[in-house]
Amino acid sequence: MINSISETLQEQRTFYRSQRTKEITYRKKALQKLEKVVLAQEDAICEAMYLDFKKPKFESLVSETQVVLAELRNSIKKLEFWTKPQKVTASWANFPSADWVYYEPYGTVFIIAPWNYPFQLAMLPLIGAIAAGNTIVLKPSELTPNTSKIIHDIVETALETAHVTIIEGGVEISQKLLQEKWDYIFFTGSSRVGQIVYESAAKTLTPVTLELGGKNPCIVDETAALPLAAKRIVWGKCLNGGQTCVAPDYILVHKDVKDKLVSELIKYITLFFGSTPETSADLARMVNAQHYQSLMHLLEGEEILFGGKGNAADNFIPPTLVNEPTLNSKLMQGEIFGPILPIISYESEADLDQYLFHFEKPLAAYIFSNNKKNQAKILSRYSFGGGAVNDTVVQYVSKHLPFGGVGKSGLGAYHGKTSFITFSHKKSIVKKWRWLDIPLRYPPYNLSETITKKIKKLF
Ligand code: NAD
Repeated sequence: MINSISETLQEQRTFYRSQRTKEITYRKKALQKLEKVVLAQEDAICEAMYLDFKKPKFESLVSETQVVLAELRNSIKKLEFWTKPQKVTASWANFPSADWVYYEPYGTVFIIAPWNYPFQLAMLPLIGAIAAGNTIVLKPSELTPNTSKIIHDIVETALETAHVTIIEGGVEISQKLLQEKWDYIFFTGSSRVGQIVYESAAKTLTPVTLELGGKNPCIVDETAALPLAAKRIVWGKCLNGGQTCVAPDYILVHKDVKDKLVSELIKYITLFFGSTPETSADLARMVNAQHYQSLMHLLEGEEILFGGKGNAADNFIPPTLVNEPTLNSKLMQGEIFGPILPIISYESEADLDQYLFHFEKPLAAYIFSNNKKNQAKILSRYSFGGGAVNDTVVQYVSKHLPFGGVGKSGLGAYHGKTSFITFSHKKSIVKKWRWLDIPLRYPPYNLSETITKKIKKLF
């Protein structure tokens, strides 16, 4: 029998209070079981994503299942180390004491996942939440139903439902779930829905992580190694059919190297996907007809340098280069989220400012340059979630790099140990010794000059 939302939550809260998830061995076993089932289902997971939007199997392996397996292995290996209370330097003001930070699970956590990396973006936060000792309700995206179903099956096979429950459904279910009281909400998706989630969480002062999107610039200066830059930009833009939150959204290229960059981009698009990209097995489709239509609509009135001819019957859009769209064109109003790449030339730093300060802080930014000063200037002058120098997208894969946005592109971060920290409350504890009880702090207070001087030194 399927439980109602409130029954599921009640069951999870009871389970959480039983203290089972506080046991490190319990968490570790759960992660190990998950690893076993994901490994056994790896082909089926890739197949599900192929059915959802023709995601190429290679991309499913390197950007979904293997990322999840690596996170599982790392969490299993490091769990004991991460969960140990951490001793910190004690304050002289508390002398004599030992000061500790305990990592406490929040309790019952709600995770909302998007469709674009439908397996990985559901599983990665789930792994962090399990490692930190929470019980979890996870809602995968309704737009990738085959992947959602397999996530449901995997979790049901590997884990106890009182520990982790998958609830499938769309906006309505998501909103119903948001009306419940959670101990933590982790949301990945658009800034628009992120705002709805944040507002809803604010009503109960529930802490949140918001992993959102943005309009990610890719700067190519006059010193860049152009063939390599083009190769890595085309790869990062076309991965997952351009439906990647950290994909380069638009290029700002120095006017002196623009023509050369464009010809290199065309060269690599053709090298990667052939002269008829639609027949290539290496390009994912747009997730649905609505997304296809809204992307094609962005191209209206623009000067297309390459590509541009979609196929509505297959939700297919080829890698497309657009020449110099204006800041008020449709293409430059929001995140593109497809294989369409605007190319805009700049001449001076002021031109760069005009673009980079115009948009809200993006999730990612990329700089292709052989000039270290230029690289450093871009990294310090502009705010963005994270990025790469002379590459695109790759910052996402390091378990040592916290992943998250800033401002409109998000709040908080995860991956590796940062996930564990994100899903844990940091409980600070001072353990006082009993053998000394300095009378100074108790009334009646003594404000003599010598005492005041001593007090000031304590802090
Ligand atoms: P979305 O915001 O439309 O949906 C995300 C989730 O929220 C889905 O599970 C959906 O069912 C739910 N949802 C949708 N509308 C809702 C509402 N009104 N109330 C409550 N829940 C609602 O996002 P999407 O289209 O699935 O994903 C694409 C967006 O996600 C892009 O903007 C992309 O940049 C962003 N994204 C960010 C990251 C990141 O890590 N920062 C990763 C992937 C995608």
